[in-house]
Amino acid sequence: MGCRRTHDVRRIWLRGAAGFRDGCLSGRLGELLLRVLLFSGGIDSSALAYWLRPDVCLTVDYGHRPASGEVAAAASICSELGLRHEVIFVDLRHLGSGSLAGTPVSGLARAEEWWPYRNQMLITLAGMRFLSEGLREIVIGAVSTDVHSDGRSPFLRGISRLMSLQEGQVAVLAPARRLSPERLLDVSEFPADLLGLTFSCHTMEFPCGTCRGCIKHAELSNYMRRGAR
Ligand SMILES: [Zn+2]
Repeated sequence: MGCRRTHDVRRIWLRGAAGFRDGCLSGRLGELLLRVLLFSGGIDSSALAYWLRPDVCLTVDYGHRPASGEVAAAASICSELGLRHEVIFVDLRHLGSGSLAGTPVSGLARAEEWWPYRNQMLITLAGMRFLSEGLREIVIGAVSTDVHSDGRSPFLRGISRLMSLQEGQVAVLAPARRLSPERLLDVSEFPADLLGLTFSCHTMEFPCGTCRGCIKHAELSNYMRRGAR
């Protein structure tokens, strides 16, 4: 647990790449500083787990249909990487929409899997769970191709500011916000042989092969095969 020196050099680069403040470097000497990654077991968050080696990887089962697939994938990857993994269960299935909830897609949605206030909810739960353990940073796997408002810079800056105004002064970091998923794989040097452990389906606990998540997974798998990493 804590802020490892090996991360500091990387973070200086991340500040320039993503524009979000560095919460770890502002900590007092000897203070416990916990960095938590919101971890779905998908390719983007798995690459971040491999790259940043957070103190905790947190998977939230909020009642969405693919939850058990995400939990299993996340547990496998954390076991493989030797990272601490925790799961929070919160049954919000009646408050979702779209393919993740198995209900009609909202007219507000830019894509089928949109779930209202999802990242706001996940960040809040991570804060509630880990504040007592010295939480200072919550890392979220937003990338440049995210289409939902809660994966974009205005929201990410706003939620980081909102968290920092409250007890614990927690920062929200999105180090891959300006990277494409392909670039994130390259930068993180995520190994191709771990790709089979990741899980991205939006509709069920096994890959359906047809949803946006499964299609992205297949495209990134092809990208990595072409790169022969
Ligand atoms: Zn799918």
